[in-house]
Amino acid sequence: MTVCQRFWYDFFKVSAMRGLERAGGERSTMPLTEYRQKRRFEVTSEPSGEQLRSRKKATALRYVIQKHRASHLHYDFRLEWNGVLLSWAVPKGPSLDPPVKRLATQVEDHPIEYADFEGVIPPGEYGGGTVMVWDKGAWSPEITDVGEALNKGELKFTLNGTKLKGSWVLVRTRGFGRSDRPYWLLIKHRDPFASKRDITLEAPRSAVSNRTLAEIARDGGGDIARAATGDPPAA
Ligand code: MN
Repeated sequence: MTVCQRFWYDFFKVSAMRGLERAGGERSTMPLTEYRQKRRFEVTSEPSGEQLRSRKKATALRYVIQKHRASHLHYDFRLEWNGVLLSWAVPKGPSLDPPVKRLATQVEDHPIEYADFEGVIPPGEYGGGTVMVWDKGAWSPEITDVGEALNKGELKFTLNGTKLKGSWVLVRTRGFGRSDRPYWLLIKHRDPFASKRDITLEAPRSAVSNRTLAEIARDGGGDIARAATGDPPAA
């Protein structure tokens, strides 16, 4: 890279990051653009999110964690907000133990109906591999202004899922390394649902189908052996 190229590279990078900061987690002007750009919907069976769902007032906000055996195993933590699923990739998955902080990289917003996606993304496509609905339920903010909390980088909330319950927090940190993605930490608050138990090992199966990753890959014509590397040996 020449000095001149370097200048423009840094200029655009900083501008992009400022834009992200300003918009916080809401980014509602161009919803799902990045999500759609990364995917070919004639090849993958993931939803395109064509219609943004208009929410009925009384419905609970959806929460889902999808266990995803892609190039690396990770857990996609998603919270419904403003007609999309705010999304974070959590490499190690959630921990019920309050001293344990789990790295969570914020990724592009996903369509609401993505919460129901369990199956195989074809190899070579974005996120190619096996996806499991590992936990699902509802979430509620513990603060009055979610937009402000996302901008400030500290979102406190309660989960009412099949596996995860109680009080949690997502805290934005100064980035590690050179990623332009905001880094957050997912942390369990102390409450009766806090525990030293390793929930990812104890409850490795799908919350909707009770299948392992290997079984989902088998049923969807995916790579069973590769998917199985994401299942604990006892599963
Ligand atoms: Mn993923």
